[in-house]
Amino acid sequence: MNRFITLTFFLTLTLLLSSCCREELLNLTDARERVKQYYEGGQYDKELDEIVFDAKTKFSTIEVKQNSAVIFDIDDTALLNYEASKRMGFGYVKNMVDEWVSGAEVPAIPRVKDLYDFLLNKNVKIIFLTGRFSDEYDYTYQNLINEGFAIFDTLIVRRPEEQKLPAVEFKSNVRTALTQQGYEIIGNVGDQWTDLDGPHSGIRIKIPNYLYQTK
Ligand SMILES: [Mg+2]
Repeated sequence: MNRFITLTFFLTLTLLLSSCCREELLNLTDARERVKQYYEGGQYDKELDEIVFDAKTKFSTIEVKQNSAVIFDIDDTALLNYEASKRMGFGYVKNMVDEWVSGAEVPAIPRVKDLYDFLLNKNVKIIFLTGRFSDEYDYTYQNLINEGFAIFDTLIVRRPEEQKLPAVEFKSNVRTALTQQGYEIIGNVGDQWTDLDGPHSGIRIKIPNYLYQTK
């Protein structure tokens, strides 16, 4: 009898625990609405204000040398793809993305542009490093110019032999090569941790991105 009571007790406890602690799953419709609110309701800009303010404070403490450089990622760091993402229902449709980026009219993120201007005024060298491919170089270059990112040392895209490398490996390899060329990378600005992880990153500035995540 005692065994029966003990078994019943543990079964009830297990059932209670599994029902009370079940993770509430967010419905996709609600998730989309929350993301939309985040970007369009001022929260994204507010968060960026704080991040850029903090970044400027950190860079102000650094002595800028002739070879000091800051790396900027492009997609959703310098330029914002939010409108394209919204048009695709926050999914990914390759043809639509290709059309969107090849128009060279992807808008700048003004607060990141402000950080770029701040660094230029401090005579920091700017390097754009993107996971975009080499056949996208021309319109990517043009887009940066169109959006006011007119001064930079170099724009680096993925070469054909680098297409299959994981993002973190591709970007780390480039930073190592740049360091060997003589640059001192004092900072790195990106919307993905794969932009920032790895060696020679300097001060890491993470731009928020609730649209997608690169692994
Ligand atoms: Mg990016």
